[in-house]
This record gives sequence, structure tokens and C-alpha cells, in this order.
Amino acid sequence: MTDVLELAQRLLRFRSVTPDDDGLYDWLVPWLESLGFRCYRHRFGREKGYYVDNLYARWRGSKSQRDGNKQACALAFAGHTDVVPSGDESQWRFPPFAAHVADGALFGRGTVDMKGGVACFLSACADFISTNGSKTDGSIGLLLTNDEEGEARYGMDPLLRWVDAEGYTPQLCVLGEPTAQKKVGDAYRSSRRGSLHMTIRVQGKSGHSAYPTTNRNPIELLMALVSQLKAPAVWQTAKGADSELPDIAVLSLQSGSEASNVTPELASAHVNVRFAAPYTSEQVRALLTSVSDKVVGRSSYQAEFHVSSEAFVSCQSNVVAWLCDTCEATLGYRPFEARGGGTSDARFIHQYCPVIELGLVGASMHQSNEACLVEDLHRLRDVYGALIHRFFDEGGVP
Ligand SMILES: [Zn+2]
Repeated sequence: MTDVLELAQRLLRFRSVTPDDDGLYDWLVPWLESLGFRCYRHRFGREKGYYVDNLYARWRGSKSQRDGNKQACALAFAGHTDVVPSGDESQWRFPPFAAHVADGALFGRGTVDMKGGVACFLSACADFISTNGSKTDGSIGLLLTNDEEGEARYGMDPLLRWVDAEGYTPQLCVLGEPTAQKKVGDAYRSSRRGSLHMTIRVQGKSGHSAYPTTNRNPIELLMALVSQLKAPAVWQTAKGADSELPDIAVLSLQSGSEASNVTPELASAHVNVRFAAPYTSEQVRALLTSVSDKVVGRSSYQAEFHVSSEAFVSCQSNVVAWLCDTCEATLGYRPFEARGGGTSDARFIHQYCPVIELGLVGASMHQSNEACLVEDLHRLRDVYGALIHRFFDEGGVP
């Protein structure tokens, strides 16, 4: 069975909410073996009292098996099979694990994030192997995890360490996360933003609210600070006019005063900054500190910082051009770089090999009635198929 819709439906019917794969890999392994993949299952996280299933599968073209060519080109696809919980099922048009098709769309938890993408690359690989398997000098690796939506500690990270130790590190990895904005192939990702948190506590001077000039209102100081941080000039002077502006979000604001005519003495705020490369968390932190010094005054505040992730660029321009050219030749239009959004397993993969992300339209991910167009599954499968053909025809990425 290589029909991409049927394959996606099969995957969607497993209730594989992180970390339990609900038997998905028990079903998938024999399916891959029938195509000629060697499968290596990895269970990580036993010390936590549960385990997470992960799978590395590797197919080698008959030509490279005959010639014993160890340097043959190696392409990999990566994805996660776990999904977030379905939430209130009464909000869904169809049961979230029924994989129902209606109005030309496939509904279900994980359709776009990202079992649909997984089905597309599995189907593309199956088609390629059946038509070109015997003359191919190279290998295809599949990196699959059921631990991406959670902490991601027992998924892609330890799986890659094993793959690398075995000498199976690919030359390039395509990650099937939903990157498209309006239609398949309109956007890719070749970088991810970093995330830094600042908790700042401002010491003001309380007083009668009718005489504000004698007070120093810490809430207003924080408001001024945030508006300064959102000013493009602050970031553009630091990195040049072309630098991408970070997103600044205030996650909480607290202050002590409950009286109706007294301005508060203290206020604190939690600010989250999402920043793109070439910024590092160290530079963002220095910038937040210098703006706080200027607006609030160095002696009037204390700040704590926490780095959730660093920004990174996951592949070079040759990979981007290769992907964009292939999308354009297949679909008739060229994708642009998607920049917003959160994190993905690319943060682990790019430490081993270049990785580029291309997937379905992400608008409904993690929502009730998550869905993708059936037509989009075919389009994405076609793009993945074209990428595989080009990779092996040209002996890698030019
Ligand atoms: Zn995802």
C-alpha cells in the first residue's frame, strides 16, 4: 500500500499521544521491511518509568549493496509520529482519531503535525524504491520519533547519537514539519529562532496617585521598557538594518498595590524574546540589560534570564536553492523562507547534518478539526519524490 491518503489514514488511527505510540511502530516496521528497509527500534527513557519508541530505518540501493560503496550518497527524512491530545472531542466535526475524509479534506489529530508529512515521505520512498531501487547507488534513512511534542528528551536527540555512532549520518535530512502557509510548497524553513526569558523586578517609589510627579511608578517604567524593546531602532543599530526584528511578548505583569489612590512600590514582569540568527542569546541578554539600564536605571531593577533555545541556521544556500528549484519545477511556484513559530527536531538534527523543513499547511495544527486537503498530500508526496530523484541522479546536493 503506497497510496498516500490510505497511508496517512492508517497512521492517524493510532492514538499516538506523546509518549505512547499505541502500536504504530508494530504496524510500520513490517511495512517498511517489505520495502527492503532494515529497521532498528530504540526505546529510550526507561529510567523515567516509561519508555518512548523511536525508529531508525535504512534502505540501500541494490547498486551500492553490489558495489559495497560506503561513500554512496545518503539522504534522510525525519519526522514525529506523536501527536498532542485531541482536547474536547465535542468540538470536532469528526472523531479525532477516525481519519475521516470530507469536503476534499482529511480530518484528524496529527494530520498536519505531522503524520500527513510522514505519510508523504513514506509513500514517496516506496514509489522510488519500486521504480529505481535496483539502479540506485545510495541509501535512504528514516528518522522517526514518538517524542517530539513533549520534552523531546527521549526522541530525536538520543536516536541521532546512535545513528551517528553507527556511521549512518546522512548528507542531508528533510524534515516534514508543517511549514506551508497557504498552500503546499509555498514556504520552507532553513533556520529556527531562539527563545530567551527575562524576569525583571522594578523598584519604584510609591505615593499618592494625585501627585504623580513625586512618585516613581514601576509599572510605567516597565511599560516604557517594553515599548523601547519593541522599537526597531534598538535591534537595527545592534545588527544592521537588514536584521530580522525579534518578537517581544510580555507574559505576565505583577504589582503589589491594591489601594485606589496609591501608586505601587514594586512591579515585576516576565518578558519572552524570540530572536533569529545571527543573534545569540548572549547578545540579546546584553541588549536587554543595556536598554533596562537606560530606561529603568541600573540601581532600580533586578533581572533574571533563562535561555530556552539558541537561534540557528540549519542548512546553507545550496540546499535552499536545491529545494526551491525542485518545488518550482514540481508545483510551478517557488517557496519563501518561513521564519516565525516555535521549535522542532531540527534543533538536534542540524548538529549532525544539514536539515531543511518542508511540509503541509500548518494553520490547523494543535487545534480542534486539524485537517489538510487530500490534494495537498499528493502535492507534497510529489515534491518529496522529485527531491529523492534529484538527490540520487545528481549524487547529492550540488
Ligand atoms: Zn510537529
